[in-house]
Amino acid sequence: MNPTTPTAPELSIIVPAFNEQEGLAAFLSQLFGVLAGCSDSYEVWVIDDGSRDATWEKLRAELARYPQLHGLRFTRNFGKEAAILAGLRQVRGRAVVVMDADGQHPPALLPQMLELWRNGKAHIVAAQKANRDTDTWFARLNARMFNGLMHALTGLDLEGASDFRLLDRRVVDALLSFPEKVRFFRGMTVWTGFTTVPLAFDVAPRIAGTSQWSTGQLMRLAITAITSFSAKPLSIVFRLGLFGMLAAFLLLLQAMYSWITHAAVSGWTSMTVIVLFFGSANLLGIGVLGAYLAQIFDEIKRRPEFLVGEIVPPPAHSLR
Ligand code: UDP
Ligand code: MG
Repeated sequence: MNPTTPTAPELSIIVPAFNEQEGLAAFLSQLFGVLAGCSDSYEVWVIDDGSRDATWEKLRAELARYPQLHGLRFTRNFGKEAAILAGLRQVRGRAVVVMDADGQHPPALLPQMLELWRNGKAHIVAAQKANRDTDTWFARLNARMFNGLMHALTGLDLEGASDFRLLDRRVVDALLSFPEKVRFFRGMTVWTGFTTVPLAFDVAPRIAGTSQWSTGQLMRLAITAITSFSAKPLSIVFRLGLFGMLAAFLLLLQAMYSWITHAAVSGWTSMTVIVLFFGSANLLGIGVLGAYLAQIFDEIKRRPEFLVGEIVPPPAHSLR
């Protein structure tokens, strides 16, 4: 079905969910409470990212209550980026909002977001985290480092940015036309350059459960984000290499000089320093190359970004 046929709803909500059994029902009732008051045609897609708890069963139990609710389940955990992509492929709305399942992205912001889009002020409404009070200092430090690094390396300013955003159908279609497999939703929407209006919001505490991100996952996201948006680390390593070569050349002159003046053998310390420095510089360089190689590897494998286990209610054959 063509996404922009007249039957397309005005608004589609995409909710990636991973192990959210405790908070899901409460979140949905909040969400539908707000939706009923701000749009008369909408759909909600919860993308269950391979939860290992009862998230899917809870979701199915809610289907009878909300006719606009849909669920899609992955065969396993493919990550939030994949869940967002799956959502973007499913929904048909003329405006699409991505929001977390844990209540941290307050549904109360939706009317304002919609208003900005309806009166043509924005193709993208980007909800910006006004506070990070709900984060631990460690999470805040991580975010600060990540955003600083991203800004230095890619020029994208992601300070306060979140995945909580409204996208016009044009933006969604643009994102879906990207052939790349490795995705960083937040950065890609900024990259498209469509008119964006920021909207501040206070991050609410989680309804239930704990954050599902492990430090390892966050690190992988950071590497993905950087390697898919910037080749600067490669040129930094290259410049580092040049600098090292220059330093080595100067040291060579010094070594020659002490050999000529018979003052050699001293200099064990500088030797050690040099070996350690260039050894680690080598490893670093190889590591950076490896990160890009891995990225290219992921792209050329051409594997699907996710596999769908089940869709409820089951889509009619004529659709999609
Ligand atoms: N999430 C997901 N897949 C994952 C991890 C998280 O779909 O592998 C979802 C999660 O259910 C939530 C959102 O992504 O709806 C944000 O996750 P979380 O609250 O754990 O992260 P934070 O709020 O700390 O950014
Ligand atoms: Mg959260």
